Amino acid sequence: MKPAPFDYVRPQNLAEACAILSANEDARVIAGGQTLVPMLAMRLARPAVLVDVLRLPGLSGIRVEEGALVIGATTRQVEAERSPDVVRHLPLLAAALPWVGHPPTRNRGTVGGSLANADPSAEIPLVAVTLDAEIVTEDEGGMLAMSPDDFFIGPMLTAVPMGGLVTQVRFPIWQGGRIGVGFHEVSARRSDFAFVSAAAQVEVGADGACTRVALGIGGVGDRPVRLDVGSLIGMRIDETVLEEAVEAAAGGLDATSDLHASAEYRRRVARLLGARALADAYAEALAKEHG
Ligand SMILES: Cc1cc2nc3c(=O)[nH]c(=O)nc-3n(C[C@H](O)[C@H](O)[C@H](O)COP(=O)(O)OP(=O)(O)OC[C@H]3O[C@@H](n4cnc5c(N)ncnc54)[C@H](O)[C@@H]3O)c2cc1C
Repeated sequence: MKPAPFDYVRPQNLAEACAILSANEDARVIAGGQTLVPMLAMRLARPAVLVDVLRLPGLSGIRVEEGALVIGATTRQVEAERSPDVVRHLPLLAAALPWVGHPPTRNRGTVGGSLANADPSAEIPLVAVTLDAEIVTEDEGGMLAMSPDDFFIGPMLTAVPMGGLVTQVRFPIWQGGRIGVGFHEVSARRSDFAFVSAAAQVEVGADGACTRVALGIGGVGDRPVRLDVGSLIGMRIDETVLEEAVEAAAGGLDATSDLHASAEYRRRVARLLGARALADAYAEALAKEHG
């Protein structure tokens, strides 16, 4: 099936892109095209104008800035996967990226495109939610930095303003003690979208007690969610403590049923994967040399 007719424009700078997007409510951004091109071909998307942002100056690249790892929206997923700064400062993203699609899709797909697409099962949005990253958008009115809770508003739905686009994401770098991460997901085949996924990051102090912890769950409800496992702080984590904390935190998980899995299955697997991801993260942190 062929896409419905559309005009294609390649703006030279961000201001021009915002001007085109705000002048035409039927305009749509295209970046790596890995999700949008199949949707165009199946006529699930019929924009009047495609605005190609992939080569806009200043929208790609990875840098450390004011305690955050900043990733430009049009940075290819493979570039983030291979980045020494990501491996060093954002090990949770480094652990999640190999699960995003396949090498050919990561060669084209962008970090910002995955955030803007807002698939509830996508790995990059899950890491952004877990670490409470800041997602930055820009339109003719200027720049807006949003928390993931404000940015992700439903399945494939975001708070990107009309006439605007995602320009970067700022992941906080945990600077303190020994840090470990854990990432697990269940899908029909490797690299398919996850039925359920769990991402965890743990920081431990000199005495081996947990000093900071984050746990996120994806694929269960209409957007990735952060679970409150703050009860682990101050604790030396063992299996029982872990299961109790995850059980308590996952109690209110809002889960959906679909062709792939029931809500009950998703809730059960979320508890299991959540505990596994936390256990891996804690073990990895403990194994690290004292800073
Ligand atoms: C076979 C296959 C398997 C895949 N498996 C996975 C998977 O397991 N996990 C996963 O997370 N993803 C998966 N994907 C999707 C892939 O990661 C896409 O790259 C990603 O979803 C979209 O990024 P893109 O740059 O390709 O965006 P595009 O396809 O160009 O755009 C996607 C959407 O985002 C909007 N958009 C893009 N960039 C911006 C921006 N800067 N600002 C505002 N809006 C923007 C577009 O308008 C469009 O609505 C898979 C894709 C394929 C083809």
